[in-house]
Amino acid sequence: MKTTANYRFLNWARNESCVAKNYFQPETEEEIIQIVTTHPKIRVVGTGHSWNKICLTEDVLVNFDNYNKVLHLNKQALQVKVQAGIKLWQLNEYLDKQGLALKNLGSIAKQSVAGAISTGTHGTGINYQILGSQIEEFSLIKADGEKIIINREHDKDLYQMAIVNLGCLGIISEVTLNIVPAFNLHDETYTAKFEDVINNLDNLVNTTDHFKLWWFPHTDEVVVYKYTRTQAPVNDSRLRQWFMDELISVNAYRLLLKIGGINRNWRKNINRQLVQNFIKPLNRIEKSYKVFNVPEPPLHRETEWAFDITQAKSLLREYNNMINASAHRINFIQEIRFTKADDFALSPCYQRDTLWLGVYNADNFGWNELLADFEVMAQRYNGKPHWGKEFKSVNKEFFQRAYPLLANFNLLRQNFDPGNKFANDFILKIFED
Ligand SMILES: Cc1cc2nc3c(=O)[nH]c(=O)nc-3n(C[C@H](O)[C@H](O)[C@H](O)COP(=O)(O)OP(=O)(O)OC[C@H]3O[C@@H](n4cnc5c(N)ncnc54)[C@H](O)[C@@H]3O)c2cc1C
Repeated sequence: MKTTANYRFLNWARNESCVAKNYFQPETEEEIIQIVTTHPKIRVVGTGHSWNKICLTEDVLVNFDNYNKVLHLNKQALQVKVQAGIKLWQLNEYLDKQGLALKNLGSIAKQSVAGAISTGTHGTGINYQILGSQIEEFSLIKADGEKIIINREHDKDLYQMAIVNLGCLGIISEVTLNIVPAFNLHDETYTAKFEDVINNLDNLVNTTDHFKLWWFPHTDEVVVYKYTRTQAPVNDSRLRQWFMDELISVNAYRLLLKIGGINRNWRKNINRQLVQNFIKPLNRIEKSYKVFNVPEPPLHRETEWAFDITQAKSLLREYNNMINASAHRINFIQEIRFTKADDFALSPCYQRDTLWLGVYNADNFGWNELLADFEVMAQRYNGKPHWGKEFKSVNKEFFQRAYPLLANFNLLRQNFDPGNKFANDFILKIFED
């Protein structure tokens, strides 16, 4: 097992860091159990793709980059069993070679499977729940070193309680996912007027398998993404993807962000240029995971909140008006996605079909003010923040109101981890000790 003393952890967005006394990278379950039974304070980190302090510790930090194998594929049952540290991209590539795929994905695949589950990571599509809903079974190493197996059917209540777990119930060791035969997506991307899209929102959301919007603030246009599941053959060219999606779009975007960093007042025009001249309509068919995942974005700040879908139109209009009437100058897309209600205790989509509004900004300039203003509005609309992204104005009382099963989850946490071995400051700000 690789061990590093005084390890400096820096998250993907480079806005959070810590120095852990010991950093362990186990390769076997025995090593994981040994770490758990010999240390009083532990946090696990996947790939550090969370924007907040969820992974921080000054004690032991455990990483599963070397615990990332596919353990078993059952083609008949359409299930794959993996070690918890496998990255979504590794799993995508493995499954693709077998003619299989994950049912739904988020925008990138750099995360570890366990990290993505633990924070309630989601994609888009009103008939699709958060990614954790694809899990059939997982094993958890509790604070005393005992391994328990949680199965979707046999341990229904425990499963619903533990799927979104913020890394504070124990260490997820092995995960079995339900998978599907490989499929393609028909990707129709185009720009449209913000108000036209909002007027037609119900129809677009309900008639599209996977629907999302990218909105450049200070413009009245949005980029519409409609993905339809299909078995029709791929017709997109790798050369086009490399040239347009990776070379031109990514680099032009990064350049324009830099220019907008010089003078904030240029941002409105830059956003307009981006929507009008750089986003080209697309009509293509490509493998599912290549469409779900977008090229890695430039570093940026990010918050994302989940709202009851019935409030989507009024919320989006109010957010648009708020931005236009304010001094905020946002230089990054805002992302609007949809997911189906679920029954997971700590899921922001608990018992409500959900609209996700992602508020992003490329630099720190004005970020705290934007976050504060947005959170006032988000709380008024009974929103719930994504567990892996930034949030500031919320406290224990907020979480108790927002999550009817929070106290039950906390009882489970205290039962599995009576000594707060897995609880860092982030966790103790959410739950009663
Ligand atoms: C560029 C970018 C794009 C993103 N896109 C999306 C998106 O499309 N949709 C979305 O919903 N989110 C998205 N996110 C957020 C991201 O999916 C979540 O923050 C996710 O949790 C990160 O996974 P990770 O492996 O980096 O976990 P980390 O951030 O390292 O850890 C997250 C949590 O998982 C816990 N954990 C990790 N491994 C284990 C384990 N083995 N056992 C127990 N607990 C564990 C950690 O303790 C921590 O509590 C994005 C983030 C970035 C940076």
